[in-house]
Amino acid sequence: MSKKINLENVKASSEGLLGTIPEEINSDTDHFTEAGKQLLKFHGIYEQHDREVRGEKIYSFMIRSKLPGGQLTAEQYIAHDQIADKFANGTLRITTRQDFQFHGILKDDLRGSIQELNETFVSTFGACGDIVRNVMACPAPSDDLQRNAIQDYALELSNALFPASNSYHQIWIDGTQMIETQPVDDPIYGKSYLPRKFKIAIAYPGDNCIDVYTNDVGLVALFDDNNNLAGFNVLAGGGMGVTHNNDQTFARLADPVGYVLPDQVLDTVKAIVGIHRDYGDRENRKHARLKYIIHDRGLDWFQQELQSRVDFTVQPVQPMPEFEVDDHMGWHEQGAALWYLGVPVENGRIIDRDDYRLRSGLRAVIEQFNLPVRLTAQQSLLLTSITDADRPAVEELLAEYGIKGIEEFSNVRRYSLACPALPTCALAITEAERALPGFIDNFEKTLADLDIPDEPINIRMTGCPNGCARPYVAEIGLVGRSLNKYTLYLGGTANGTHVGRVFLDLVHFDDIIPTLRPILAQYRDNRQANESFGVYVNRIGFEALLHSVELQSTPSIGD
Ligand code: SF4
Repeated sequence: MSKKINLENVKASSEGLLGTIPEEINSDTDHFTEAGKQLLKFHGIYEQHDREVRGEKIYSFMIRSKLPGGQLTAEQYIAHDQIADKFANGTLRITTRQDFQFHGILKDDLRGSIQELNETFVSTFGACGDIVRNVMACPAPSDDLQRNAIQDYALELSNALFPASNSYHQIWIDGTQMIETQPVDDPIYGKSYLPRKFKIAIAYPGDNCIDVYTNDVGLVALFDDNNNLAGFNVLAGGGMGVTHNNDQTFARLADPVGYVLPDQVLDTVKAIVGIHRDYGDRENRKHARLKYIIHDRGLDWFQQELQSRVDFTVQPVQPMPEFEVDDHMGWHEQGAALWYLGVPVENGRIIDRDDYRLRSGLRAVIEQFNLPVRLTAQQSLLLTSITDADRPAVEELLAEYGIKGIEEFSNVRRYSLACPALPTCALAITEAERALPGFIDNFEKTLADLDIPDEPINIRMTGCPNGCARPYVAEIGLVGRSLNKYTLYLGGTANGTHVGRVFLDLVHFDDIIPTLRPILAQYRDNRQANESFGVYVNRIGFEALLHSVELQSTPSIGD
């Protein structure tokens, strides 16, 4: 029996995601059984070990908090910061889905960490696992109630799609021996939950800051002439994960499938989750995302199936503005005489390093001014609700801790993303978070040499093809392939509306910039007015680009 089928059995027999976690959490070992490890994911926990320590494995755990729309109060932020010190490795990491991750938590501290989070009404239930993950939304705050409604919908969807089981509360909060009966059939997820993870994001029209097309369900809010929320265009079937050497797997952008009114959006999303639950591939996890159902059965079938599951008419997709990306960095008015400040966080890692004391400085400013926080999908954060009078003091305090404003970041660094990869992620083949800053240093030098230092080219690097940092929609995507070698994707666009294709495979880390340099030079010389790098690549085509590449070896060329 394959591991994939076992996981289905583990879910089905878990009695509401309980399984053997209660016994295992109290056992003397420092890790969990395979079944326990899989169920832990539904509770927002990944078992990990340091990949660089040889010999006996040293286990620790990653905990991911679930923050719909990336929203936290000041109190919730401070709680995260304290847990990072008390139980984790002294850092916080903003994920590409607007939630926080802690790394390096020991088994005996799992319960304490989760309890302290829950005391501030932050849950980790459903942050990972085959279930609806954190619901994302454009994080920009506004006193415009209509615009802020996007955040409200993220919270409403998150609450409505929360698993019904009380196992989470019993394991982590009550700490009892599980004597209560668990609901076996979840009203939304059934007995076996979903075949695979399920991602939802809500975009503000014209701003694709949350990469809406990469989600299983993307909702684009549309407003009428009076700026009232009129409805949502519904996109379905996006997903990033790929398996190397398996052309049955691919990154895919969501298709527009219809338009629904605000009071229909919850039933629409529930219906799509139901389609995934009922038709997703439960034999092959690599083929289990919603995107493969739509690809295999067709968009017409999907639209008919969706219509059959709701008691209102799903209307045709409405026109919507072209997407750009606003990363919301720097100072912005939020209305009602308040401001927000977007603070860049390279690769999402909130850490004190020498004179750049990002963690201490953020904690100080959030505490002193009682600032609500929003996390962005680019792994940075927004300090919100700052009064006009407090702006200078906020800036001064951040500067005391050496915290850089966005004006001190090059455009290429500003728009780069990396996943955690080595040493913690069990699936990592190559470096990503640790390697990208140095890579960007060299890339900046190359752009400066080419006299195009300010090009806002977005680069995303991941340690494996799962694509957690969404490399397949980047203008330059680097995906871990084998030791120190990457697959180089080109053709994604800055606004996240194109999927890149394999340009070269198995490119050594040291050869990536020399490979790209002649392409960048060609771009500088031949681009059209205001043409971004990704758009240029697609206009010129791979054949023409390859002519300008000085290859030291003969890598294979993707289609
Ligand atoms: Fe781990 Fe791969 Fe995700 Fe990176 S992309 S965090 S290596 S699973």
